Amino acid sequence: MRTVHNGPPSPEEFQRHLQEFIRQHLRDAQAGPAPKSEPPGAWERSEPEPQVESFKFEHIPREVKAHLDRFVIKQDEAKKVLSVALCDHYHHVRLAFEGKATPNYAKQNIMLIGPTGVGKTYLIRSLADLIGVPFVKADATKFSETGYVGGDVEDLVRDLYRRAEGDVQRAQYGIIYIDEIDKLATASNLEGRDVSGRGVQTNLLKLMEETEVPTRSPQDIAGQIQAMMEFTQRGRKAPATINTKHILFVVSGAFGGLEKLVRKRLREATIGFAAKGPSVETTDQCLEHVQTRDFIDFGFEPEFVGRLPVRVVCQSLAVDDLFQILKSSEGSIIRQYEQDFAAYGIEVLFQDEGLRLIAELAGEEQTGARGLMTVAERVFRNLKFELPSTPVKRFLVTRELVEDPVRELQKLVAASQDEAHVVSRQIVHEFARRFAESHGLRIRFTDEAADRLVALAAEQGRPAREVCAERFKDYQFGLKLIVQNTGPREFVIGPEAVEAPDKVLSQWVVTSYRQSETKAGEDRT
Ligand code: ADP
Repeated sequence: MRTVHNGPPSPEEFQRHLQEFIRQHLRDAQAGPAPKSEPPGAWERSEPEPQVESFKFEHIPREVKAHLDRFVIKQDEAKKVLSVALCDHYHHVRLAFEGKATPNYAKQNIMLIGPTGVGKTYLIRSLADLIGVPFVKADATKFSETGYVGGDVEDLVRDLYRRAEGDVQRAQYGIIYIDEIDKLATASNLEGRDVSGRGVQTNLLKLMEETEVPTRSPQDIAGQIQAMMEFTQRGRKAPATINTKHILFVVSGAFGGLEKLVRKRLREATIGFAAKGPSVETTDQCLEHVQTRDFIDFGFEPEFVGRLPVRVVCQSLAVDDLFQILKSSEGSIIRQYEQDFAAYGIEVLFQDEGLRLIAELAGEEQTGARGLMTVAERVFRNLKFELPSTPVKRFLVTRELVEDPVRELQKLVAASQDEAHVVSRQIVHEFARRFAESHGLRIRFTDEAADRLVALAAEQGRPAREVCAERFKDYQFGLKLIVQNTGPREFVIGPEAVEAPDKVLSQWVVTSYRQSETKAGEDRT
């Protein structure tokens, strides 16, 4: 019996139709036997993955922290906690691969709390780099409960699979980082909540526990068709699912408003007792005391918070920390700028005073270390555009340069032009010296003539030496004649000879003939 629907087909029905269509299509095309029928969704089913021999992990927490210290400034407590959590997690994964895992092991998923730009992502990315596991990051706000609008949380796992270049095993022990998790809180007394937050929490919870995620999204029609075709043609299933059991989840957020809840709880706990509560003057200090209950009050499902046992507070960054990030982090953006300028053969040297002002200006942006990028971009924008087409080959990043990059750029260019002028003038005089050496004829350029030659070279964008050689190429012959006619002497070359070298030379030659004739006449009389 056929069921009649008014609405669109269900995903299962659609899939079945599609499968039938493809099968029909292939049969027509190949006139070959169709493989025996499979229930819908069969290509999504997991096949046992070949077990990798082993999973190598030999790090110890101190070593992991030392690695983080190279890149991430401050956040000492966070680095320690993360190093321990990471080692615990991956030692457990290794044991699981060896078949020695503790049953009921609680995964060390991590909740990072802290304002924007203080290194939360950077910490996790650096960890993933160290141990060589795939890493993906997304904002919690892009997911919706159903996955039809926005994204499906399972896409995160598929992204990991893509990052692992289709290696299911590698994807299965990667790291998934979800930022802005605080936006999923559902408490009605806090502003800006999404009603579907709870649904997304539930979906994430499933991932954090253990689930099988198909490598191809049910909404990825092209991918589904390809999988079906492979299946129908070769009877072979694509590697079907990724198990999330060993994927490490890290969630983070600024948790505005959480501080108030913690303070309230701490205050209530001390009422009626003589004992004073902990000193929690700053936001950072206060958040150190955050407990599961506070997250629940904030609007998280208890089960969800329960799956995130490692809580880490990242400190806000002061101007001095920003300065240290510029000066000593291996990932400092100043290294990037050094490289960018080096590509044009320009050397840049950052002075501490310059770096300090960048840090001070970045502090005003209130976006943590991200402010450094904004300020540096502003400071270097014109320099990057102009300097490659000037003779400037090196410059210092001083406090003055950071204060007023446009003015300093003009100064740099003017100074380099002066320098270029001085050098070119020397080259012109050097030409005269070599001319004397080569031809036994002494020439001397007046200052005016030398300046004119330098200007001509600059106008034509050619070396001064080349311009001299071209202008005075016939002088050795002409001057020799003059010497023969009127005897050796020094020739002074003025600006008129630079402008019209041949005309001046021939005038000189003619004059010298006249002079020699006059002299000969005088001698005869
Ligand atoms: P968030 O805390 O918002 O995740 P990120 O980790 O993405 O911030 O920081 C943005 C960038 O700022 C990083 O890529 C890194 O270059 C720099 N940065 C942030 N915090 C630090 C830090 N503590 N030490 C060194 N660099 C940092």
